[in-house]
Amino acid sequence: MEKLINELHLVVEKGIQGTINIYRLPAYGILDIASDKKQYLINMRLYSTNLQAEEVSFETALVAGLAPDRGLYMPRALPVFSGEELDSMKNETYPEIAFQVLKKVLEGEIDEESLKGITYDAYNFAVPLEKVDDITYIMRLDRGPTASFKDFAARMMARLMQYYLMKGDRQITILTATSGDTGSAVAHAFYGLDSIKVIVLFPQNEVSERQRKQMTTLGKNITALSIDGKFDDCQAMVKQAFADDDLKHLNLSSANSINIGRLVPQSVYYFYAYLKLRKYPDELIVSIPSGNFGNMMGCVLAKNMGVPIKKILASVNENDEVPVFLESGKYSKIVPSKNCLSNAMNVGHPSNLARLVAIYGGEMDEKGNINRMPDMDKLREDIFSTSVTDLQTKTVMKEFFDEYGILIEPHGAVGIKGLRDYRELTKDKTLAVTLETAHPAKFPEEVRAVTGMEPELPESLQRTESGEEHVEPMGTDYATFKEYLEHRLE
Ligand SMILES: *Cc1c(COP(=O)(O)O)cnc(C)c1O
Repeated sequence: MEKLINELHLVVEKGIQGTINIYRLPAYGILDIASDKKQYLINMRLYSTNLQAEEVSFETALVAGLAPDRGLYMPRALPVFSGEELDSMKNETYPEIAFQVLKKVLEGEIDEESLKGITYDAYNFAVPLEKVDDITYIMRLDRGPTASFKDFAARMMARLMQYYLMKGDRQITILTATSGDTGSAVAHAFYGLDSIKVIVLFPQNEVSERQRKQMTTLGKNITALSIDGKFDDCQAMVKQAFADDDLKHLNLSSANSINIGRLVPQSVYYFYAYLKLRKYPDELIVSIPSGNFGNMMGCVLAKNMGVPIKKILASVNENDEVPVFLESGKYSKIVPSKNCLSNAMNVGHPSNLARLVAIYGGEMDEKGNINRMPDMDKLREDIFSTSVTDLQTKTVMKEFFDEYGILIEPHGAVGIKGLRDYRELTKDKTLAVTLETAHPAKFPEEVRAVTGMEPELPESLQRTESGEEHVEPMGTDYATFKEYLEHRLE
């Protein structure tokens, strides 16, 4: 960081000529850089939040996932969109907005035509903004192939990986252990891509029938292994394979949720919501149901890139380590994490927290120790975080259905309650968007119990319900798994 700051001072001192490109250096404010000096900032150099690794290119960070010092990769600077630039995208579709945003962020890292192809291929489904009342909208991110918002990030990461692998004429195999949802989003995201095989391990008796079918009915480059064991066994087998020198030649890779390729595309939700609902420089409030805080980090990036987000509401379930941290300045993880209704957010130590701390000028290691405090005042100014109980979650689901006739599932309900808490406290009537991160049909029991309604299956899930299953059963013995990989992937 020090070195970068020195370089930048140099650039600024040398004078600013020609077109001005504005970049924001997280935690160090905005800098105007002459276009001939741009190379100091763009080509997206990424640093590790642990600050002990080399800066790398986007391609390297994407393929590696985690930095060698176990930190998370962060862009050292971000382009800022002007008001005119934002307004000029107003009438575009979601894939076009994704293309425009990513083009600017990934300038020099990927050719425009390929990027355009990738965004249109990845985002071939609707992104509805549903009006609740004059100051409230729901953005439904649940229309992708697995009816989860994770489709957005996973599909983009998969295609970007494919792009770089094809260019280098390389092949990889993604190994992933899942307790249900992540595996299906990853499998669907990579489905049909030429350079990448996916092997998903799931615990035979711990996934629902619907979750299993989402992994087993794909075929092609996707293999589903049904493990006669628990999720921990699946994870142990995958970890051992990654660490096994005998398997190095198989180019095994993980599609980790901390990958920078999953983070950057998530800033697009906020450009999209803003462009459809506001005109520059009006402000917007967003409420984000959060677990590992990848989605919320996408929003922090969007805000840094010039989207006028007035307040980011990071709404969590009973795992309240982040609201407590914001309030007290003291961070302690919750071990083990609490089991709540919104089960995809049962996270006691969010994996993206180090990124949040970094962007506000602090330093947190992978264990959650803070070596340098972030700017807490600025953090509190930008982010409001509240914890929602299971009882409150159910109450909101019921009230929302009774009052507006709108069905939401537990994660979305946490977002709505977070917004309600914020409004009650501040009386702020600024237009707000709250995110629905999964389709209600993915949580039929919860929705039925609270509202008495049977959520209708979206088309994407209907297709998997009736598809033919391909699945290979396997025990928890590593040697068998290893032999399988060696034969299957040679
Ligand atoms: C993963 C997930 C979340 C949490 O998202 P993060 O980016 O981890 O904060 C919220 N809702 C649903 C339905 C999810 O699957």
